[in-house]
Amino acid sequence: MAFYLGIDFGTSGARGIVIDEAGGIQAQVRYPGKMLAAYQWNSALWSLLAEISEELRREIQAIAINGTSSTVLLCDAAGKPVDAPLFYNDGRGSVVLDQLKTVAPPNHTVLTATSSIAKLLWMSQQPFFAEAKYFMHQADWLAFLLHGKLGISDYHNALKLGYDVEEVKYPKWLEKLQIAIHLPQVLSPGTPIAEIRREVADEFHFRRDCLICAGTTDSIAAFLASGAKLPGEAVTSLGSTLVLKLLSRKRLEDARYGIYSHRLGDLWLTGGASNTGGAVLRKFFTDAELASLSSEIDAAKVSELDYYPLLQAGDRFPINDPHLAPRLEPRPDNPVEFLHGLLESIARIEAHGYELLQQMGADKLTFVYTAGGGAANDTWTGIRQRYLKVPVVSSVNTEAAYGTALLAMRGSN
Ligand code: ADP
Repeated sequence: MAFYLGIDFGTSGARGIVIDEAGGIQAQVRYPGKMLAAYQWNSALWSLLAEISEELRREIQAIAINGTSSTVLLCDAAGKPVDAPLFYNDGRGSVVLDQLKTVAPPNHTVLTATSSIAKLLWMSQQPFFAEAKYFMHQADWLAFLLHGKLGISDYHNALKLGYDVEEVKYPKWLEKLQIAIHLPQVLSPGTPIAEIRREVADEFHFRRDCLICAGTTDSIAAFLASGAKLPGEAVTSLGSTLVLKLLSRKRLEDARYGIYSHRLGDLWLTGGASNTGGAVLRKFFTDAELASLSSEIDAAKVSELDYYPLLQAGDRFPINDPHLAPRLEPRPDNPVEFLHGLLESIARIEAHGYELLQQMGADKLTFVYTAGGGAANDTWTGIRQRYLKVPVVSSVNTEAAYGTALLAMRGSN
């Protein structure tokens, strides 16, 4: 039997999932902790490996790792970090944004304080930069611990570094920054990089020909976990916010709506994120109330309440208006009616989002997988299906580690 291991370093600890050739889960392991500090990455990785049974480890053919997008670090020639990594939400790059704007094309996705290239530019102006040889993403560095090669990344992690995923090369404008560092060689996610290091194989009883594959980012891994793979298939995340991702043959870019595309083989993963979502529901109801009140709603019945549920003013997608006011009136006395209006309104915003992506040229929506806390709400699924007019299901697998295990399987076969 062949097994594949996906490892996820997300914002809430690290996880590993081992799958078989049919995609069945054989083992799940966890290393707890919120955002793991850099000194914990090493030990988290080894302890995840140690927790998988030796019997399974002996049959693992390939491993891939996903990290948090734009969590980056500098290393010396031996791969030792020269300073603490900058985490995904670190805004220190804001001081170099103006400099970046002079070289990057207008409205480019890297023009934010938290992009990898803004972080690298900031780091290049610090004293510790003198010792640095390699710039790496979190996933690159963790994979390096397994395969021993420095300076290798994938085009999902490298997107926020400015890597041109259409041309599959670094753009000319990047050279103008004149940063004296090895930028990673960029591979397709899932591509085998090398066999696992001998010492690691022997210590943990992995096969010596176990392949370490190029990784991805946490959000793409979560998309891959759904199993969506054809143009027109989408994943809606109904978590605190509403995030749409639609597979398309056409690449979409529109900074006004915060829309950009990740490359996925020959396809593009397009999408947008709205500030509406479960956080607004939680302001009015507990999760238990959401479940019990929802069961009293008739999903086939249209609620005429027309809300735009937001915690504070402003949205970007599918309505780009930084001052867009939350609309939560009129509020009926009956909580079932109020919740019906909220669920119906978020479903309308979701449908509007997919319409917008299709108007911009994305493939016609054919199927919607659902992840996040709202996915379990069958009433909501029924309401959403009425608007989306395509099958809507709850994703069986939503864990990023599962998506990364699929990537290791697809890449190594
Ligand atoms: P995130 O990781 O984005 O914070 P989760 O995926 O954990 O969010 O989902 C949590 C959200 O799910 C909460 O905002 C909550 O309002 C919503 N939620 C929980 N249960 C239900 C339910 N039965 N129906 C609709 N929404 C729900």
